[in-house]
Amino acid sequence: MVCPFCKSQENSAKHGTYIRHSDGKKCQRYRCKACQKTFSETHFGIDYRLRKRYLNQNVFRSLCSGVSQRRLAIILGVQRAVIARRLVRFGMCAQHNLEVYRRGRSKVSRLTFDELETFEHTKCKPITAAIAVEDKTRKVLAISVGKIPAKGPLAKLARKKYGPRPCERHKCLKALFADLADCIGPSGLVKTDQSKAYPPFIRSYLPDWIHEATPGRRGCVVGQGELKEGAWDPLFSLNHTYAMFRDGLKRLARRSWCTTKKIENLTLALYMYAWFHNLYLDSKRRSHLKLVWMH
Ligand SMILES: [Zn+2]
Repeated sequence: MVCPFCKSQENSAKHGTYIRHSDGKKCQRYRCKACQKTFSETHFGIDYRLRKRYLNQNVFRSLCSGVSQRRLAIILGVQRAVIARRLVRFGMCAQHNLEVYRRGRSKVSRLTFDELETFEHTKCKPITAAIAVEDKTRKVLAISVGKIPAKGPLAKLARKKYGPRPCERHKCLKALFADLADCIGPSGLVKTDQSKAYPPFIRSYLPDWIHEATPGRRGCVVGQGELKEGAWDPLFSLNHTYAMFRDGLKRLARRSWCTTKKIENLTLALYMYAWFHNLYLDSKRRSHLKLVWMH
């Protein structure tokens, strides 16, 4: 076991067992020979120190199925903090899993990415979430979140009320490509819309890739804005995934009462949904939809 305190490898010895109070499970303790601290096998699970562990998978699936945190607390008859705590824990686990997935999978040769817009607290404080999706399979590969200033009619009011807001769009795209470096092949096809911000990034991070820019189309009047009118959408993998994010995460739904309060928690929620989405695409049976820490 790797020591969680000093990270020393293979240097711990068994150090007795104990019965976990909350569910009666027998747990193995270890002692690290390097730092003398003890820890148990449960340290590495997603339910470490969460006593209502029977709720975990249900909370994970519900939060990724368009249920708000408050409503889920009512349904399960628990405090709101029970849900909020799990959102943070699951988001961190999903972020880690996505990293492991990127390193372990075969190289991607068909990529598509775009930015999903949402906001923190008020529409005067917009947020951009760059999400890269593998074309055809619709697997989410990487996510990066950043603040952007309000534009259009709200820009003036936003500056007056909340002061200047930084534009982290470039930083955000840079972070996206840094994450993608683990899983992209030497050449391939990358599809985006015709945003002027993308070609410089693609030239520097994907020099041998072919870039196909598709003109944006008008969204349909009903349903998800991302699913465009008309027969054939070249960015279907991307738009369909974005529509699923908006449907799965309550805070991204259009005309919702639920909003993001902290940008960090939005990031974690996006990771959580992304991992759920990838699990869902992989699972032949629904019982496989389980969040576990990957090694
Ligand atoms: Zn140690």
